[in-house]
Amino acid sequence: MDVLTLQLRTRLIKAGLQIILLMNLTSYLWPRETALEEIARTSYDFIIVGGGTAGSILANRLTEDGNYQVLLIEAGGDPPLESIYPGTFNYLPNSQYDWNFTTINDGYTAQEHKNKVLELTSGRMLGGSSSLGLHFYNRGNPKDYDTWAHILKDETWNYKNLLPYFKRSESLEDEAILDSHNAIYHGTKGNVGLTKQHNKISHKYLKAFKEAGHNILMDTNGFHTMGYFEPILMIKNGYRQSMAYAYLSPAKNRENLQVLKETEVIKINFEGKKAVGITAVKNDELITIKAKREIIITAGAIKSPHLLMLSGIGPKDHIESHGIPLKANLPVGKNYQDHVSVILAHKLNMKSKFSSADDPHNFPWPIVAGNIALNKVQSYPDYQTINYVIPSDSDAILTLCSTVYSFNDDLCQSLYNLTKDSETLLTKIILSHPKSRGHVLLKNNDYKVSPIIISGFFNHFEDMDNMIEYIQDFIQVSKTKMFEHYNGELVHPNLAECRNIPVDRSAYWKSYILAMMGSNHDFSSTCAMGSVVDGRLKVYGIEGLRVVDASVIPIITSGNTQTAVIAIAEKGADMILEDSRKQY
Ligand SMILES: Cc1cc2nc3c(=O)[nH]c(=O)nc-3n(C[C@H](O)[C@H](O)[C@H](O)COP(=O)(O)OP(=O)(O)OC[C@H]3O[C@@H](n4cnc5c(N)ncnc54)[C@H](O)[C@@H]3O)c2cc1C
Repeated sequence: MDVLTLQLRTRLIKAGLQIILLMNLTSYLWPRETALEEIARTSYDFIIVGGGTAGSILANRLTEDGNYQVLLIEAGGDPPLESIYPGTFNYLPNSQYDWNFTTINDGYTAQEHKNKVLELTSGRMLGGSSSLGLHFYNRGNPKDYDTWAHILKDETWNYKNLLPYFKRSESLEDEAILDSHNAIYHGTKGNVGLTKQHNKISHKYLKAFKEAGHNILMDTNGFHTMGYFEPILMIKNGYRQSMAYAYLSPAKNRENLQVLKETEVIKINFEGKKAVGITAVKNDELITIKAKREIIITAGAIKSPHLLMLSGIGPKDHIESHGIPLKANLPVGKNYQDHVSVILAHKLNMKSKFSSADDPHNFPWPIVAGNIALNKVQSYPDYQTINYVIPSDSDAILTLCSTVYSFNDDLCQSLYNLTKDSETLLTKIILSHPKSRGHVLLKNNDYKVSPIIISGFFNHFEDMDNMIEYIQDFIQVSKTKMFEHYNGELVHPNLAECRNIPVDRSAYWKSYILAMMGSNHDFSSTCAMGSVVDGRLKVYGIEGLRVVDASVIPIITSGNTQTAVIAIAEKGADMILEDSRKQY
């Protein structure tokens, strides 16, 4: 297979999926759209802007007791078939279901990516990024949340106090975990169906990681969180558990929940310092809608700061330089955080074929993940690793490299040629606690123009030094018996940056890292708690306005961020209802 053939095949399949879309096979799952005339007649308590991960959860919780009238506004439409099946996620990036954001070319990172920029895939449909993400359920480490509580001086955000929200959201199906002492960390009656991957193929790799000195865990979200494990996935009965599926679908017939789709909110409207409504665009027409109680922004870590800044909430100089009247001078868009990752590939001299790879109801490959610290007694990870076991008869490396990680064609072809016909352990090494910070900025005051996104990756020197150390730690696995038995070796793709530098030099690894780095798509912290919103998620200095999504995370968690967003939205819903009951 060559990369151009793969891209042609992907385009043809996407075209086929467009035809299937016309059959409306999945529309029965989602709330129907409310007519504009009905919206004009209705008086809303809450308007939720963004029907993504957090927005879907809030829409469900705020309409649960029937006391409040809620309008959910989503820029995208219903999730398509390829979002429903867990194994077809690679058809969603670069489509109409993706905002197709990119970083700017900083001339330093991402130089081996297409157009020398990072593609920041973000869901534009009901369920948002949970409708196209990679299903990992990893809360991170209790200390992540204890640090939030410490920063906010608000113990309600510590892990112990967030645990009931994690449990309330989950419906875990796994006998071994539920029969163990880890059961107290899990829920079985919540909205989000969870299953653990169990695959014999992973066991030989777990054995190798054990031999390399690591703990093997049954459950990384339980009592112990450090070591290697087979992950829990947001997949149940063969279906993706997006937040649209888990929370919106069960609420779709509630009379007090109304939904506007394909509608982009472009401005928050104020009376003095109180947010009272929104202006949105639907079919090129402007509409304004009011809310009696609150406007809740759940547009994600890129679009929430964009919308706030377009509405006059942001850094004074920046807002005024775009001719926007200032409403509140706050550090919106600053403090952007994401997990930077680096790809490694070990090829093993064995032939393999897995049936799971052809069934769209499954995640296609066995996964072995790890939360690892260099100091083996530390209970807080330095790096996370996600390892896909790719069978020898597969072109998955090409697919992942080109369509999911968006590296350039030459690099993907080189990686594929080096690994084809061998079973391959494709690894992401992810910095759990990046120190680098990026930025989301307005390009201009036109809502149609995407914001400027600066990833900031490796702008803190410690991140590079740490990444080099973590890679050296990880590759010790190639000295284990299993790897030696199968002549397991790390492959070195043909990278101009690394040419003529010996592999044992840190200069080699620095060049390798800059070439093979990418985003783990955990964008966060652009409207952080403690600087833009308070501990009750209210925007400082403005009444009636909250932000509830990945943008409020003060410091990125060491796990993937969707799980943190679920807890934030569950807790956010409780706080909104509590405050609302107090008002009347
Ligand atoms: C490719 C990918 C893979 C990932 N894999 C994982 C994983 O395996 N595990 C994990 O834990 N996390 C994962 N994540 C991260 C996780 O999905 C996100 O952190 C989380 O979903 C963010 O939730 P959110 O509510 O902040 O934003 P989103 O879920 O992105 O929701 C924002 C919503 O707002 C809508 N919107 C935006 N602007 C407007 C507007 N102006 N008007 C109306 N609507 C608007 C958007 O269309 C979207 O639906 C992944 C992310 C991506 C992109």
